[in-house]
Amino acid sequence: PEAITVQELANRMAEKGADLVKALFNMGMMVTVNQTIDQDTAELLVEEFGHNITRVSESDVDISTEEDVDPEETLKPRPPVVTIMGHVDHGKTSLLDALRGANVTKGEAGGITQHIGAYQITTKGKEKQKVTFLDTPGHEAFTQMRQRGANVTDIVVLVVAADDGIMPQTIEAINHTKAAGVPMIVAINKCDKPEANPQKVRERLLEHEVIVEAMSGDVQDVEVSAKTGAGLDDLLEKILLQAELMELKANPERFAEATVVEAQLDKGRGPVATVLVNRGTLKRGDTFVVGTESGRVRALIDDHGKQVKEAGPATPVEVLGLGGVPQAGDMLTVVENEQRAREVAQYRQEKATEKRTALAPTNFDTMFNTSD
Ligand code: GDP
Ligand code: MG
Repeated sequence: PEAITVQELANRMAEKGADLVKALFNMGMMVTVNQTIDQDTAELLVEEFGHNITRVSESDVDISTEEDVDPEETLKPRPPVVTIMGHVDHGKTSLLDALRGANVTKGEAGGITQHIGAYQITTKGKEKQKVTFLDTPGHEAFTQMRQRGANVTDIVVLVVAADDGIMPQTIEAINHTKAAGVPMIVAINKCDKPEANPQKVRERLLEHEVIVEAMSGDVQDVEVSAKTGAGLDDLLEKILLQAELMELKANPERFAEATVVEAQLDKGRGPVATVLVNRGTLKRGDTFVVGTESGRVRALIDDHGKQVKEAGPATPVEVLGLGGVPQAGDMLTVVENEQRAREVAQYRQEKATEKRTALAPTNFDTMFNTSD
């Protein structure tokens, strides 16, 4: 059954989390806003607050232009999109840096390396496989994107520091991952520390129904150190193994659809969005709609800060040429021309208004093609 946090449900109903907690208390349940509740309880609450329950399909949630599905023969393998989650200071950024072979943490302070919300690495082996990582600041971006019907993450890497163990945000991350139905890989970090106790982490994970392989479960786990680099190849291998099981594919030969990962107003460059291409290929000069605004790709900048002409599926890229600053989770859709762009923008505005008045829980089951 699907699970949802009280806060997420509150957001969808446009109610206060605290009011839901109170209602649950009156129903005999002691929960906090960050805890998950099952679908039955969620439905009871929804009724309690006088909202209607609407079951919607993925194509309704995705307010993009076409409801088309790419024919099987157009699909090509694409890299997996991995989100790293975990408690603050457990080493998410360090791990990403180490995997990337750069040092963004230092850059953040010194302002040398530019931070972007997503990047891609290529494995060293002879196969040269690509993996895309999302660097979500906290868990809000992940949740926010899911609330907006944007589910770009294929795999979650849960980082747990071996010296600190399971902490509140670790549990939060586990709940988010479970609610999204995304497979998880546990990276037990800081194993270089003398006080590291990876076995204790594995045991404590059991309490949260995360049973790692070493405990005879089916969640992959790996001991790593972002500091020394130990276990990182192993982690990448496990990510690729998981990705292989999922047979991730997309059609690169079509107008692009991309999801906004983050966006801001840049002093010199105007509105800038980091997007992740879901399908198709995004090209310089393309006319698009993002959220409810239209625009035209003036420049594409890759995760190394280099200008590129195009970006294919699962590729993160910065887009310049937006009419305004979109929100994380907004869909960028390339269209034939500006007239079509205006039509789509208008359609989305109407949809957005409808969505504010109707509760639309997403059907997570249809959103992830985890292999069975
Ligand atoms: P985040 O908040 O999860 O992104 O954590 P950071 O990557 O910022 O790391 C928090 C602190 O832990 C920093 O001081 C890192 O240098 C340190 N750290 C991260 N990974 C390791 C590791 O594998 N070993 C050791 N000894 N320290 C680490
Ligand atoms: Mg960090």
